[in-house]
Amino acid sequence: MELPAGQGSRPFEAAVPVLPDRTVRVLFGRGAVDHVAAETRTVGGRALLVAGPRQDRVVRGLIERLGTAYVARVREVAEHVPAPLVAATLQRVADAEADVLVAVGGGSATGLAKAVVRESGLPLVAVPTTYAGSEMTPLWGVTDETGKRTGRDPRVLPRTVVYDPELTCSLPASLAATSGMNALAHAVEALYAPDATPLTLRAAQEAASSLAASLPHLGARPQNLDARSRALYGAWLAGWALGGSTMGLHHKLAHVLGGRCALPHAATHSVLLPHVAAFNLPFAPEAFAQAAAALGVATAAEVPGALHELAERCGAPTSLGALGLDPAMVDTVSAEVVAAPVPNPRPVTTADVAHLLRAAHRGGCPEPMDAVPSRGEP
Ligand code: NAD
Repeated sequence: MELPAGQGSRPFEAAVPVLPDRTVRVLFGRGAVDHVAAETRTVGGRALLVAGPRQDRVVRGLIERLGTAYVARVREVAEHVPAPLVAATLQRVADAEADVLVAVGGGSATGLAKAVVRESGLPLVAVPTTYAGSEMTPLWGVTDETGKRTGRDPRVLPRTVVYDPELTCSLPASLAATSGMNALAHAVEALYAPDATPLTLRAAQEAASSLAASLPHLGARPQNLDARSRALYGAWLAGWALGGSTMGLHHKLAHVLGGRCALPHAATHSVLLPHVAAFNLPFAPEAFAQAAAALGVATAAEVPGALHELAERCGAPTSLGALGLDPAMVDTVSAEVVAAPVPNPRPVTTADVAHLLRAAHRGGCPEPMDAVPSRGEP
């Protein structure tokens, strides 16, 4: 089935306002990767690349174009940005006398580079290869023995982001699906954010409709560049909405499950999204009406089921059990989530979170959660 024509297939170049006093230069489109070297040279003369092993082909081309402006590459990248990796990368920056970082990869490569520019003050050029959206946010995170510390810092924003849909063609279908659902989660939570603006709402709606239209087309034909462009366009807008809005229960749960239980980031988002939507639905009818329009279903009440069906169609995991969550962790995670509350349309109790997590652990299409059963009930 062909994807109907829409936004996201056209190349563009823009100064995108990410903070009230800070724009990020964005280049979007097929072949945009050819401009990374020139973009890098405009902000620095000695480039250190942060790019994991899966990016070897892209990196070879980039090194050729950078010529003498290339000074070093960090190839070790890990999820959740381990502190020792940040320290080692800072040392490489100093040894190579680098004056600009270029991150090529998913949220892990971008996250490592952001942590390094936060400490070093160097400029960053980001070349995302997944749909995580980290390149559009001032959010950083570093994990040490005490857990994952996160924060907001305008210094971590890239100077330039280069989006080339061709770089995402090598994503395995399972990763494309979970990463796309991760982006969709940014968009859905932005729709009910307490600090939403007309612009973040518009971006979140456009992101959700682009992602919902494109994600089911990625698995069967990885080289479907129209679908890849639409998905990356949706991910860009979802990342932008994430950076400009305060996230709620969904992101908090994903954060705690990742940090405490070492569950994979994007897959966890994918599983949780329909269940958190079912939980929040009765308390955010307007936001879910907008989500319904974006997902192409008639009513807000159909959104949780539509999100579940989308994940299934894409081949994304739909149960926390399948991700290896030990059910014995449900109470610990619930207590941790409630201990540091986040703004959420529906007030959250420990029993609510435990109920939601048990439903997500079983998997399947989420049941309505108008009233959450008290402790002890299934
Ligand atoms: P990832 O960066 O860990 O990548 C997942 C896997 O995909 C890795 O093995 C990577 O090498 C591989 N990969 C990436 N691009 C590929 C491609 N084009 N082809 C083939 N393989 C490819 O995963 P992610 O989901 O992109 O990022 C997750 C991390 O990002 C988490 O640590 C999360 O906390 C962080 N994140 C941060 C923000 C933020 O605003 N700070 C936002 C979203 C996610």
